[in-house]
Amino acid sequence: MLARGRAPLPGAGARLARGPRGADILQRSSLLRKGPPAVTTPEETPGATPSRPGRPVPEGPPPAAPAAITRIFSGMQPSGELHIGNWLGALANWVALQDRHPCIFSIVDLHAITQDYDPAEMPARIRDMALGWLAAGIDPERSIVFVQSAVPEHAELAWIFNTLVPLGLLERMTQFKDKAKNQPENVNAGLLTYPLLQAADIAIYKADGVPVGEDQVQHLEMARDAVRKFNNRYGEVFPEPQPILSPARKVLGLDGERKMSKSLDNQIGLNDSPEVVWARLAPAKTDVRRKKRTDPGVPEDCNIFAWHGFFSSPEERAWAAEGCRTAGIGCRDCKQVVAKNIDAALAPMRERRAELERHPGRVDEILAAGAAALRPIAQATMEEVREKMGLDARVRYASTAGSGR
Ligand code: SF4
Repeated sequence: MLARGRAPLPGAGARLARGPRGADILQRSSLLRKGPPAVTTPEETPGATPSRPGRPVPEGPPPAAPAAITRIFSGMQPSGELHIGNWLGALANWVALQDRHPCIFSIVDLHAITQDYDPAEMPARIRDMALGWLAAGIDPERSIVFVQSAVPEHAELAWIFNTLVPLGLLERMTQFKDKAKNQPENVNAGLLTYPLLQAADIAIYKADGVPVGEDQVQHLEMARDAVRKFNNRYGEVFPEPQPILSPARKVLGLDGERKMSKSLDNQIGLNDSPEVVWARLAPAKTDVRRKKRTDPGVPEDCNIFAWHGFFSSPEERAWAAEGCRTAGIGCRDCKQVVAKNIDAALAPMRERRAELERHPGRVDEILAAGAAALRPIAQATMEEVREKMGLDARVRYASTAGSGR
């Protein structure tokens, strides 16, 4: 599956050889040495249901990462404060995956500019996202964390993929149609070709595994198609990335209707204090049948009960279900248990974030080191690509520039 001539990921081979928890890692005095927050991955306890309150546990089977996968890429737009939807939907999986595979995680700022934004805010958004990732357990000792625009080869490869994929395919992408509907004033070409920049993000490092939710499978198919077209036309360079299907955890927001999102103001932030968590959770929508304390409800029709599924123990879930159906508990009682468990999950992240904020240069160092480690890999891939495509101007003319004057 791996393409020939792939540059090694710095440290990845050693990590694999020694195991992710090898002595070298134990000896490091990183700010992040405490490791990820308490997450029981299904891999650690196959088939187990959550047994400890206050621990966010991925639902269902673990991300199915085939053993042959050797390099994982994923990214997230710097869209503001991270919330528990980001955590349950992506970050918890990333934290689990870095135990098993070399991973590259990118803050994809070039994707973010396809929406309206304030340039003055972008650096802070990027930093905030990096802080949030590190606080959530992304470990720069095991994974590479960087900002997409720090490696300009992403954009160069995306342009090449632009010349290979038919327009009609891009126009059929569901996310393009949705985004074009959501921002009719700004249907820029980048919205259309967004999936090809995603393809380049993956291919530039010859990553062969990409964690995806069901809604992203179409984009990964596009990436696979783009690299296939390149390989067929110019010669084998890229592996076809495989989807690592993540457990489906669509997290609805406090309104109980729409996906959790900061722009909808229906979120609980990963850095929220217990007081803020409760202030936001207390008025959250519940089953409409429970107008009065004495009205029985249907827990399956309540978003708070879904959150019990993410954060509470089986005993607590059984207590909530029974109490809801019999009106034995009030919604306030029920929410207080969820709030307690959410806080138990967030507390280690808040602590780690506070520690990082006491050392402001640390995040910048991590992002700089990530870009420095990846640029040579991206440059090597582009040299290979240009050579296959007959685009040898950089080599042919670089040394003679100015000699004719
Ligand atoms: S008791 Fe709990 S599950 Fe039932 S409606 Fe109230 S908050 Fe929802």
